[in-house]
Amino acid sequence: MTILVTGGAGYIGSHTSILLIEAGYDIIVFDNFSNASHESIKRVEKIVGQSITLIEGDIRNRTDLENVFSSYSIDAVIHFAGLKAVGESVEKPLSYYDNNIYGTMVLCEIMSKHNCKSIVFSSSATVYGDPHTTPIKEDFPLSATNPYGRSKLFIEEMLRDLHISDSSWKIVLLRYFNPVGAHSSGTIGEDPNGIPNNLMPFIAQTAVGKRSYLSIFGDDYDTHDGTGVRDYIHVMDLADGHVKALNIIKNLSKVMTINLGTGTGYSVLDMVKAFEKASGKKVPYQIAPRRAGDVAKCFADPSYAKKILGWEAKKGIVQMCEDSWRWQANNPDGYKGKSI
Ligand code: NAD
Ligand code: UDP
Repeated sequence: MTILVTGGAGYIGSHTSILLIEAGYDIIVFDNFSNASHESIKRVEKIVGQSITLIEGDIRNRTDLENVFSSYSIDAVIHFAGLKAVGESVEKPLSYYDNNIYGTMVLCEIMSKHNCKSIVFSSSATVYGDPHTTPIKEDFPLSATNPYGRSKLFIEEMLRDLHISDSSWKIVLLRYFNPVGAHSSGTIGEDPNGIPNNLMPFIAQTAVGKRSYLSIFGDDYDTHDGTGVRDYIHVMDLADGHVKALNIIKNLSKVMTINLGTGTGYSVLDMVKAFEKASGKKVPYQIAPRRAGDVAKCFADPSYAKKILGWEAKKGIVQMCEDSWRWQANNPDGYKGKSI
């Protein structure tokens, strides 16, 4: 089976590409490199010991996609491509609607034209907004507090409408919780542009000495130590969820919406302590005001993923921190450092 991996050079896409190849799929990575580097794919090739078909293109560009679908017989698409920074989405909402929503529209249109109607979509726990309780189940009410979240919500709705219009579409919506960690080789990982927005890369860059301290956004939440609680999930576990989704996609008769999380919530301070232990480095921090839009607690009920996909997260907080640290320590400047 041949899988088109849009956004396959990015953080989650590069890790998923490894498991897809190891599971015997042929893959084509399609990426516009707006938030990725060719080096990530070179390193994936090294890990899997084979070359990867890589197409530089944009999902908003019909010609780029037409070229791919007319050159290869593609059985399914795993659709990672998109913009993902919440703060930036507030400043540049039109870029988010253009890249994420319009890009997905064009992708689905070209897929349909070429009779490729199987898609696994990267959704997010952000679609639950401020959940009334935890753990979060797939049937909880949905809402969005920023353009990024709204783009994910809208794409979910668009894909549901597509299925209503044509039930031969096979659609899996994977709602990721907080992906962290890196491949155990330490050669690929998360490589944010500029100052990281997310906790884990910020902690890692502080431990390696690139940042002087971590600002902890609020210590007065209703959680066990007052800092925000999230469901951190190892990126290789998340990658495995995509392989498992492909295993069932052929037989689907309805749109499947599935949480990918561990079911365990850790606070910011829990993560800082675990990272210090894994790295042997201090992570200095200061308590700062709450960040606008943050919720106190967000963690998954992952039981549906287990039931439907036979998937559950296997890697715990120690492995998440050890693998993040190996990547960060070996590559303090990310992919901009020396080529391997
Ligand atoms: P990433 O930025 O590392 O990867 C996205 C990739 O898509 C990048 O390689 C980028 O160059 C590419 N891309 C962006 N716009 C494109 C376009 N118009 N055409 C072609 N390629 C394009 O992000 P990631 O963390 O790997 O996230 C992958 C997906 O998962 C995204 O859709 C993101 O919204 C979603 N997601 C991520 C998280 C997270 O915390 N990382 C959480 C929930 C959901
Ligand atoms: N966080 C923090 N300092 C940072 C980045 C994040 O205290 O520099 C906190 C944030 O308030 C939240 C948790 O870490 O409680 C996870 O934040 P992240 O941005 O990684 O994920 P999300 O908010 O999308 O769940």
